[in-house]
Amino acid sequence: MVKHANEPCPRQQRLYRQGQEAREPMTRYTRSFRICLAACFSAAWLLVAVDLAIAGEVSIDPGDNGADILEDTTDDADSRSSEVAAAAEKMVDPLVAERPAIPLADAVNSAEGLAKPLQILGAEILPGTAQRLSWSATELFEGVPVSTPVLVVNGAFPGPTLCLTAAIHGDELNGIEMVRRVLHNLVPEKVSGAVIGIPIVNVQGFRRGSRYLPDRRDLNRYFPGNPKGSAAARIAHSFFMNVVAGCDALVDLHTGSFERANLPQIRADLRDPDVVTLTQGLGSMVILHSTPAVGTLRYAATRAGIPTVTLEAGGPSQLELSEVKHGVKGIETLVNTLGMVKKRRFWGEPEPVYYRSSWVRADNGGILLADVSLGSTVRKGTLLGTITDPMNNASTELRSPYAGRIIGMARNQVVMPGFAAFHIGIQTDEAPIETNDEEATLSKKTGKDDDYIDSMSE
Ligand SMILES: [Zn+2]
Repeated sequence: MVKHANEPCPRQQRLYRQGQEAREPMTRYTRSFRICLAACFSAAWLLVAVDLAIAGEVSIDPGDNGADILEDTTDDADSRSSEVAAAAEKMVDPLVAERPAIPLADAVNSAEGLAKPLQILGAEILPGTAQRLSWSATELFEGVPVSTPVLVVNGAFPGPTLCLTAAIHGDELNGIEMVRRVLHNLVPEKVSGAVIGIPIVNVQGFRRGSRYLPDRRDLNRYFPGNPKGSAAARIAHSFFMNVVAGCDALVDLHTGSFERANLPQIRADLRDPDVVTLTQGLGSMVILHSTPAVGTLRYAATRAGIPTVTLEAGGPSQLELSEVKHGVKGIETLVNTLGMVKKRRFWGEPEPVYYRSSWVRADNGGILLADVSLGSTVRKGTLLGTITDPMNNASTELRSPYAGRIIGMARNQVVMPGFAAFHIGIQTDEAPIETNDEEATLSKKTGKDDDYIDSMSE
């Protein structure tokens, strides 16, 4: 029998009870955070929610007129998917209520006694053992079950459950290899807590070499899902309830999208203390503060009390060894930092935190050739690249409007006007603490300051 999300296993219940006192400030923080968000959403989507309750489905026509490569998701403009996520929020609330979690940093220290068997996907993984399970969504397109591996290492000692998810976008390959390496490098007899790795969440997209599900929906806009919703919402719901709900923390692995590559980086909402603990544990990795887009796994899991960060590394449709190694090193450092594995060696060279970032876009169409590379430091006015019209040989320059660092960029290619070409982490001392969720929601809806909340590729 699959463990229901509302019934945390005994190990989790005990951990949470032990840490409840220490957690109190964070609990209050989370509660006011939720109340604020809930107020925003309930006001905005009241009519939608009523409609959904009756229909059980939001009509989302993804369109069938474009190839993946032409689509630009920079603005995350698909507000319709947020309707789905908003409608599904009430399903998350009971999960939040059941999770008076302890501060993540203290999870191993707070865990006493012996490790317990881990209950997941109908299986029982004994302490000090590893097992390969499989998850398949209950609702599928062809009526044929399609399963994907779930790798579980349950440590010999008690501690938190850290989850790693990859290939929610089926063409993002680097994370698949990261999960494989991390899980197979762990020695269950020496681990405190558990590590669960899902190398290929969107197995149907992976098989087709596509970012999307077969109906061209972006799975990472439908979490936490809806059992009565679209196919994407049902798959998201099944994954969220059967796998994600058992996690105490989550690292979601991604790459750039559409012929763009990202410098290895963590995307995190730095207003959440447990999320900050995660970012600090990942060692030498650029950190970009970003409010997660509604419907992303990072958004839904964090709201359900499971602190989550996104690890971006490289580009889609290829395996990049240096990026894979960078990510593996970061995740293994996190496992060490959380105390789940006892090692004395930490990967500590700190990288900068960027509180703001912005995409520099092409104003003309043509052949884009870059003059900078990933990780380059740029000044205001630095030449980033040129765009040349192949017909009339006219060339225009793209120059940086900011001082900062190239944290993402397009590969050399033919671009259209408006194409997001260079992602710059902007040097600023501005911390995100003053930004409240209402402002973030407003600016998202109006499109104002959209680069600040940029969700490209995630
Ligand atoms: Zn992605």
